[in-house]
Amino acid sequence: MTDTKIDRERWSASSRQSYIYQCAGESYADIHYECGKCQSAAVFSAEEQKRAFELKKNYIWQRRRLCPACNAMLWRLRTRERACQSRWCSERKVLARDEGFMREWLGILEAIPPFAPQFRNGMPETLTRLLQRLASAGAGRR
Ligand SMILES: [Zn+2]
Repeated sequence: MTDTKIDRERWSASSRQSYIYQCAGESYADIHYECGKCQSAAVFSAEEQKRAFELKKNYIWQRRRLCPACNAMLWRLRTRERACQSRWCSERKVLARDEGFMREWLGILEAIPPFAPQFRNGMPETLTRLLQRLASAGAGRR
């Protein structure tokens, strides 16, 4: 049998300050939820909760919003987004004239919010402006 017994002494300091520290039950119980992106049914299992709160020291009230598939997709998008961001930091002058790069980054930036509504930075506006400028500069040369 897998261990789902609550060992609250292993919780993070902030979790131990929560009122639940005083009144948590004997063991974790599966939490059923609906994915915020694709609406499929998902489970934050008791075993996963023990790992999250006692080993990874996540805050005790932290819940999942996405199903595993959507969460993996979000993780991939964020990895690609960070790669674009760091390329941009090191070769901004060149990339500001690279339509392909800017369109790809813009596509990634637009794909993230449905998975993570709180995701926000000023890059989509900047990229859109640069792409427009690039298009009109190209038209002017003709
Ligand atoms: Zn989903």
